[in-house]
Amino acid sequence: MKLGIIGAGPGGYEAALYAAQRGIEVTLFEKQFVGGTCLNLGCIPTKTILASTELYSHIKEASQFGIKVEGAEISWEQVQQRMLKTVAQLRKGVEFLLKKRGVRLINAEAFYLGDHRIEAGGQTYEFDNVIIATGSRPAELPGLATDKKWIINSNHFFTRKELPKRALVVGTGAIGLELSDILRAFGTELTVVELVPQVMPLLDSDASSNYARILSKKGIKFIVGNSVKTIEHKEDHLKVTLTNDQELEVDQIVVGVGRTPNSEVIKTDKVQTERGKIKVNNSLVTSEEGTYAIGDVAMPPVSRGALAHVASHEGIFAVKHILGEANEMDWHAVPWVVFTDPPLAAIGQTEKEASQAGLAVKTYTLPYRALGAAVAKNRTEGFCKFIVEADTGRILGVQMAGVGADLIINEMAVVLQQNMTVKELSEVIHAHPTLSEVAKESAFALLGYPINTM
Ligand SMILES: Cc1cc2nc3c(=O)[nH]c(=O)nc-3n(C[C@H](O)[C@H](O)[C@H](O)COP(=O)(O)OP(=O)(O)OC[C@H]3O[C@@H](n4cnc5c(N)ncnc54)[C@H](O)[C@@H]3O)c2cc1C
Repeated sequence: MKLGIIGAGPGGYEAALYAAQRGIEVTLFEKQFVGGTCLNLGCIPTKTILASTELYSHIKEASQFGIKVEGAEISWEQVQQRMLKTVAQLRKGVEFLLKKRGVRLINAEAFYLGDHRIEAGGQTYEFDNVIIATGSRPAELPGLATDKKWIINSNHFFTRKELPKRALVVGTGAIGLELSDILRAFGTELTVVELVPQVMPLLDSDASSNYARILSKKGIKFIVGNSVKTIEHKEDHLKVTLTNDQELEVDQIVVGVGRTPNSEVIKTDKVQTERGKIKVNNSLVTSEEGTYAIGDVAMPPVSRGALAHVASHEGIFAVKHILGEANEMDWHAVPWVVFTDPPLAAIGQTEKEASQAGLAVKTYTLPYRALGAAVAKNRTEGFCKFIVEADTGRILGVQMAGVGADLIINEMAVVLQQNMTVKELSEVIHAHPTLSEVAKESAFALLGYPINTM
């Protein structure tokens, strides 16, 4: 069986590695770097930089832990060097795996012609099945056209020689928030503007307020329910007027919102697109039988995040579907994390979504200061909100911010994937003292018997 995959991001390359191990002959087309946005311009660069900024902020608090540190400084140039080294190392690792597993990698821009045919480098290749995994790129927004200098996007951010002294970040989605947290740690005077009336539109409003309060205390100034109205170029800075007529003087605008799907790859009417994305059904099949689309470029019937782990899960699902081993994707338990300090993480339905779906819900929010482990670590800023079906106790969703949220959310993924109830969760023994006890304590509180809280 021959499989052609266009795009070697986390969706495409993981599908290729899995398919090759399942005995499929795989050809993978990539026009730039293996690893795609995630490894080269997204997840890994941001997390590598954030590892430095997090360590730096810990060092600055060292005296509270009985440690004397003097003269600690952070260097953007050196942090950037470390980031480039990390990306190169991981990219090599992917290239090595592809080679070892016998995946044929063709470094060229590819086009999908229909009937399972792919054109690249002047040649046409024929396959039994095709997976399109071409991902997305930063969108150019009206009134905020990037110029790589005054107005930049996430791609430009990583290559900047210097960070601005004063910046306006547009958007409080994951990208805008992570870039804001990096700028904050490097001492940039920061304002973040968000179009909708709350920070991080995907959260319930109470969780959003709790999270925004934590970041505001660290020096990030949010202006919500607003956007950029006009930008005036002064000699050495920008004068920005927001829609509420507030004026700001900044050295740079960082556009942290908007992605454009790379669907130009499609050169046939047989595969339909909608709003730039490739339409797929619950099995990730496009309007042409045997042709799949996954990850950021795909639009399934269920709205789910543009996330690396979604792309790779969908890639592996598509291969299983080709092999006749899978039927329909299940997106009800997709965790997501924003890697600010502290991280924000969520999964499942919000309270608002569950209520709108007609479910009677009850919720419980546990403050981090109730956790011994959080107090011991001097990281009591945080909360965990559970959304539960009132009559059955089934856990529908979790939204949390606090140290360790990026790990704890994976336990919540198991909980939601298994459709567990709060009673079942309360019966799971959690090691003490750990931050994961937030789950156990919340479960008991939801049963009406909070143990370590009132
Ligand atoms: C700043 C930033 C931080 C992020 N952080 C996270 C995070 O922490 N966690 C997370 O889950 N997600 C994160 N994301 C999102 C994540 O990067 C994407 O969801 C993920 O990369 C999508 O994977 P994909 O395989 O669908 O596409 P991509 O990773 O975009 O890969 C697509 C690949 O296809 C190639 N390609 C495109 N067109 C063609 C063509 N015609 N021919 C050949 N090759 C082609 C591209 O060069 C690219 O390599 C982040 C994104 C950004 C921008």
